[in-house]
Amino acid sequence: MPEMSDAGSNKSLLIAIDGPAAAGKGTLAQSLATRLDLPYLDTGLLYRAIGKLMQVAGLDLDDAVAATAIAEKLKSTDIQRTDLRGREAGELASRVAVHPGVRAALVAFQRDFAHGPRGAVLDGRDIGTVICPDADVKLYVTASAEVRARRRTDELLAKGRAVDYEAILAEVKARDARDSGRVEAPLRPADDAVVIDTSSLEPAKVLEAALSVVQNWQRRNQAFAG
Ligand code: C5P
Repeated sequence: MPEMSDAGSNKSLLIAIDGPAAAGKGTLAQSLATRLDLPYLDTGLLYRAIGKLMQVAGLDLDDAVAATAIAEKLKSTDIQRTDLRGREAGELASRVAVHPGVRAALVAFQRDFAHGPRGAVLDGRDIGTVICPDADVKLYVTASAEVRARRRTDELLAKGRAVDYEAILAEVKARDARDSGRVEAPLRPADDAVVIDTSSLEPAKVLEAALSVVQNWQRRNQAFAG
């Protein structure tokens, strides 16, 4: 594995990671941020928090005006709620994420985070395409729907939950269709993203592949600087 204990230079480093649900991008983003000592933002939490706040207030998730109003008032403490991690919050998130007003309300917060002095790692669906088209390194982390559904099923079974693989597979496919099919900022790899297919890779190998992309970028960058 390439040896890098920090961002490798005193320059900032901005890494954008996109991909579908349960492809392993959160795990990768977290490990890259730790390894490179960069701040990390899981942007899915922003949409999850809005979905949850809508649900708690008894609002209709399809109501774009109400969802936009909630998004415009979102506070950074809202993404620290403890009820944002599960599948249900993910579904709520993907429903509110289709509204252009919601997405627009979240742009400035994400860009401010991304452009901090040291750089950052952000993961989501539109980081490399819309939020940070200027990112230094763009990764698109994916895996087949079957592999993602199997991983999610196994995770839930390990927690002692009764789950059905076919139902989870249907959920994964429905979320992919909503995220990729929406008009505003659909899920897709940026033209200059490096695609990492995690279908048959352990998390350590995924990290290794990502670190070598970062290292290549740093070499090219140093060559230009020198
Ligand atoms: O990544 P996570 O599963 O937490 O995201 C939940 C949902 O939020 C996604 O399915 C997607 O609809 C939405 N999302 C988005 N853009 C992002 C991050 C998440 O549309 N940058």
